[in-house]
Amino acid sequence: MSDTVIPIPGTVMVPVSGSETFFPVRRIYCVAKNYSAHVREMGGDERDPPFFFQKPRDAIVLSGSDVKYPKLTDDFHHEIELVIAIGAAGEHIKVEDAADHVYGLAVGIDFTRRDLQLDAKKSGKPWEIAKAFDHSAPISEIMPLDEAALPTSGAISLSVNGEIKQFANLSDMTWDCAEVISTLSTHYKLEAGDLIYTGTPAGVGPLLPGDSILGSIDGLPDLEVKITERSDA
Ligand code: MN
Repeated sequence: MSDTVIPIPGTVMVPVSGSETFFPVRRIYCVAKNYSAHVREMGGDERDPPFFFQKPRDAIVLSGSDVKYPKLTDDFHHEIELVIAIGAAGEHIKVEDAADHVYGLAVGIDFTRRDLQLDAKKSGKPWEIAKAFDHSAPISEIMPLDEAALPTSGAISLSVNGEIKQFANLSDMTWDCAEVISTLSTHYKLEAGDLIYTGTPAGVGPLLPGDSILGSIDGLPDLEVKITERSDA
């Protein structure tokens, strides 16, 4: 092995539910505009097709963690999302073959600095600063997909301090899991270790220091995170 001039960056791993094993993360893809009610609440046109962006893998936050209220924002939002964990590589994957490429599923939150996102949209700049910041990708333990089929229905919800803020059904997704995998695999070669955050339903809203967040999806482990003091305080 060659000497490195700096320490090799750490790997990012997510626990697998019901085991002592871990899922190592390669990339984090995210889907935008995948529930029409959320597109409407953001003032968009629900006929616009979903699209993709990425977060860095070290944005991952494991369930049970505290997250500091991030820098640069006064409008820090939650977005509950179903996460697909890719277990087998592929490109130009057919919808009917998509499940063969999936290792498992998890509950995730796409944390968003909404004020920076709205500024970026207005000025035609990339969303990166609004979406791909440190600690912006909480995720639950990953549940292996033991059945051949990907879920096309099931409750998805997020509560803040015990009050439900987002509640919808996976059947509301514009592109279902198989369609997300198929479409994304025409843009990039998917590899084992990739995570796909599949978009959020309506009800996104602001978080404050001290808030406790609970994310739930039928049949998957819960995701809990707590927001602590402002990181620029
Ligand atoms: Mn999102």
